[in-house]
Amino acid sequence: MKKVLLINPWIEDVAAYDFWLKPLGLLYISSILKEAGIETYLIDLLYRHDPELEAFLGKQVKDRYYGTGNFYSVEIEKPPVMKSIPRKFKRYGLPEELFRRKLRRHIDVDAIFVTSMMTYWYYGVSDTIRVIREELPDRPIVLGGVYTSILPKHAALHSGADLVAPGTGITPLVSALEFLGMKANLNENFLEELEPDYSHYERLSYVVLITSTGCPFRCDYCFSWKLWPAFKRCTPERIVNIIEKVYSERHIEDIVFFDDAILIGSEFKELLKILAGKNLPLRFHLPNGLHARFIDEETAYLMKKVNFKTIRLGYETSNAELQKKTGGKVTNLDLERAVSYLKNAGFSGKEVSAYIIANLPGQRVEDVEQAINKCDELGIIPVINEFTPIPGTPQWQRLVNEGSLPEDIDPLMLDNSLLPYWWNGGISEPALRMLKEKAWRVRKMIENAEDLSRIWK
Ligand code: SF4
Repeated sequence: MKKVLLINPWIEDVAAYDFWLKPLGLLYISSILKEAGIETYLIDLLYRHDPELEAFLGKQVKDRYYGTGNFYSVEIEKPPVMKSIPRKFKRYGLPEELFRRKLRRHIDVDAIFVTSMMTYWYYGVSDTIRVIREELPDRPIVLGGVYTSILPKHAALHSGADLVAPGTGITPLVSALEFLGMKANLNENFLEELEPDYSHYERLSYVVLITSTGCPFRCDYCFSWKLWPAFKRCTPERIVNIIEKVYSERHIEDIVFFDDAILIGSEFKELLKILAGKNLPLRFHLPNGLHARFIDEETAYLMKKVNFKTIRLGYETSNAELQKKTGGKVTNLDLERAVSYLKNAGFSGKEVSAYIIANLPGQRVEDVEQAINKCDELGIIPVINEFTPIPGTPQWQRLVNEGSLPEDIDPLMLDNSLLPYWWNGGISEPALRMLKEKAWRVRKMIENAEDLSRIWK
């Protein structure tokens, strides 16, 4: 039987936090390969509860908010391109010696598949591949994931992988197996028929699921709709089935949905109705910027009944013109209406928050301030999400055409934590810091408020 080692690489950045990060694509690949008769192993360098990491640290790794938490990290040398930026550069994930020890147990694998996420995390990807190469020099390494889909040529040049396999669904797997000369029947309908393979994790605090792939919106700063050109859904029955299984077999109580557009269509409401009838002692989380427009009274009521604990609404900006220009997915009225339904359903201000993008081209400091004020007024937590120009998006192309961004820039410099230090096209670093502090004060006020009725004024 053929054997494939799957690896979730390190993150190298100035900041990173395990906000329910799991390599979902890799976990589906594991299931697809297993079904096709290929044995799989996983080294998840971002696995905070890895028993070997806990033994290395001599203590149990603590969770914070419903299974989220800090990664183990070490400071590493800054890449020359960011030498002048006054931030520490760190590697997040398992210590290198632990990684090397794990790799040495897999000398007999036929291939190694590495995934990738953000383009500006590519230093972590190439460092991961460098270590794999040193430990298992004659094993073929295939790199897939979001970074390779956005910047395939860059990945081919800088990652050190033998093959870069961009794309979503089974596309990268088809090219990987062809490259390796392996034959296998791959299940194209994996979203409906398979499930992410969590069997690789000994201890889990939460499970991340998706009920759909893609998004029917076309926001000009987003790559999701390019990554998944068609919006596809899984049946609610299938999702319930997976949830019941992880609860009964693994006793997981926190279920996190990471869809880009979970509220589109009637399936999510159907899922809620089935879950409401099951009465499972679970908590649910929606951290991925919900479309406020599609929250109606019944959805809000069902989400409360089923025990949703984290609801993040995608607000982006309070500037109506900019809302329309960037894709029209939300208006101020959509947000107000959604919050009022959630409030009436019984959600507290601590459970509902809104993503505000800061530093969008054309956005003023006042726009972000107004958006924070709007959250304050509605009694929900404002979460500042700094803008990252993503290569290949219409927004990116415009910035390049205008001469605001160099086309051949090192992707690391597009990291939203670094951008304000050098980019003249956006909000300055001190102004951004001021906005984040303002958002933080509103958050603290809401979190500390004892009299919730004062918040829901
Ligand atoms: S709605 Fe969200 S996921 Fe969909 S295109 Fe816009 S930003 Fe991307």
